[in-house]
Amino acid sequence: MLVTFFSTHSFDRAFFDDANRRRGHDLHYLEARLTPATCVLARDAPAVCVFVNDQLGADVLERLASDRTRLIALRSTGFNHVDLKAARKLGLTVARVPAYSPHAVAEHTVALILALNRKIYRSYARVREGNFALDGLLGFDLHGRTVGLVGTGKIGTGVARILTGFGCRVVAYDIAPSPECQAMGVTYVSLNDLWVQSDIVSLHTPLTPETRHMIDARAISQMKPGVMIINTGRGALIDTPAAIAGLKSGRIGYLGLDVYEEEEGLFFEDLSSHIIQDDVFARLLTFPNVIVTAHQAFFTREALRAIAETTLDNITAFEEGRRSGNEL
Ligand code: NAD
Repeated sequence: MLVTFFSTHSFDRAFFDDANRRRGHDLHYLEARLTPATCVLARDAPAVCVFVNDQLGADVLERLASDRTRLIALRSTGFNHVDLKAARKLGLTVARVPAYSPHAVAEHTVALILALNRKIYRSYARVREGNFALDGLLGFDLHGRTVGLVGTGKIGTGVARILTGFGCRVVAYDIAPSPECQAMGVTYVSLNDLWVQSDIVSLHTPLTPETRHMIDARAISQMKPGVMIINTGRGALIDTPAAIAGLKSGRIGYLGLDVYEEEEGLFFEDLSSHIIQDDVFARLLTFPNVIVTAHQAFFTREALRAIAETTLDNITAFEEGRRSGNEL
């Protein structure tokens, strides 16, 4: 089947070409993001394959459907960027990759916690400058600290598994508590109690109208002074100006972000020769206790292999008139 890929990089091509050897689809790679201006590039492709910062609003979907696209194959777990109601109305099938490597994201979450706590990014730069002083690098033992996980699905459960191994006390909030987490000794509490009790708060829910800006000025005001907040979920789980105010007042002691609410058009690009126009993002980068990674938590060999295999299986199933089970 002819598949037009948007937002592709060399690493996508390598893994998809390898997985496609056994399947024989006709893969047409584009670097452009899918937007109202670029959707014309998919004309006559029955399947379109997209990533997290492609735009799949009603206008784009209508255009794709009128240009004979029938399948939207997401190379992601999250689908908050797709207007599913419009897709259904237009008869478009949308399939995703429900799990590729929860370990990849869970491990990156813990990498952010450790790097922020022990200030690895600062010591790396210092030592290379010949500065071997320790002032300003003081950390704390994770052992015995309380970590609050919001969302204990596949990724949150992975984080719980690692952090209970570190000797942390793990509390959690989820609309559907996980028996696996309960068996590990994770205690479920209300969201308010989680904000109040946690030394570290980590977000692992999908972005929905209910979870949007769940960390806002009110939530931050209830947290422990000096709290560490980690977000590897979706950017808009956090109200960024409220987080900046929390950093300025010292209420937030550490912030680790792999996602940002306005990351579209910023992340996944080399903009090192450009002036950043987003003043909120630019302010975030000025804090010595903030680490931002550019949506790389998923980025392991194992995850890319699994994304390519599942996405192509979804496409094959659609071509053969079967359900893959990954349709939304
Ligand atoms: P999952 O579906 O296994 O788990 C999500 C959990 O959130 C579930 O337990 C669900 O009950 C809970 N939840 C849903 N709505 C909630 C609400 N309103 N309040 C509290 N809990 C709620 O998903 P997952 O695989 O663990 O992934 C979680 C999220 O991580 C994804 O939705 C995606 O946005 C994000 N993600 C980020 C990256 C990255 O590279 N940074 C990669 C993959 C996924």
